[in-house]
Amino acid sequence: MSSIRTSLNGGTNTNAKMKRQEKATKISFILNELYPKTPIPLDHDSAYTLTVAVMLSAQTTDKKVNQVTPALFKKANTPEKMAKLNVREVQSIIKEIGLAPTKAKNLKKMAKQILNNGGMKGDWEFLESLAGVGHKTASVVMSQWYGHPAFPVDTHIHRLASRWGLSNGKSVEQTEKDLKKIFPKESWNKLHLQIIFFGREFCPARNHDLTTCRICCWAATKKRILEESNSSTKKK
Ligand code: SF4
Repeated sequence: MSSIRTSLNGGTNTNAKMKRQEKATKISFILNELYPKTPIPLDHDSAYTLTVAVMLSAQTTDKKVNQVTPALFKKANTPEKMAKLNVREVQSIIKEIGLAPTKAKNLKKMAKQILNNGGMKGDWEFLESLAGVGHKTASVVMSQWYGHPAFPVDTHIHRLASRWGLSNGKSVEQTEKDLKKIFPKESWNKLHLQIIFFGREFCPARNHDLTTCRICCWAATKKRILEESNSSTKKK
């Protein structure tokens, strides 16, 4: 936390009246400065391998996924090859990651679905119909492979959007709608990754000094600053 650079305006007061739109513009500026480049964290070389990697990343880290996919893609980097593998074999290759038994079954089923469809397709309905692929996974594939504007919202982005007062959505679906309203469409794909990078670099799970954070020091609500400060004080 101490490594967090000071805020753009040097301020530490929450501007309760600041509109979401103004906050969004300022946050974009900071994130563009911190992360001008947004390399895709999951290793892949096709729409299919990206879909597999994103599906595998549920409940585990991208780093862990990148450790298992080289062996998996060596055996099966196409739906044709994956459909021929035994589920147990797939499971043993990906056993290091969470929910491996379910993911192995889904990989096999997904491969058959893709083959029945005649191949991969940059289409929401098709992607969301695949085994183990929900709206968030489909959004990542649509944005990162097909270049379609999408704003994949996972629990980390959902939490940060709430901390920054950009959404008070009670669900990831509502947060996605709120974020799409305040950020320009052409920035969605990049922002998704920038927010993830920021969270990974700076955000601890809970209870810390918001006044040292480059975004929360002005974007968080007074209520939250007080809550975090009270709970840090109690812990001392
Ligand atoms: S939770 Fe808020 S205060 Fe803490 S590092 Fe993340 S953005 Fe900054």
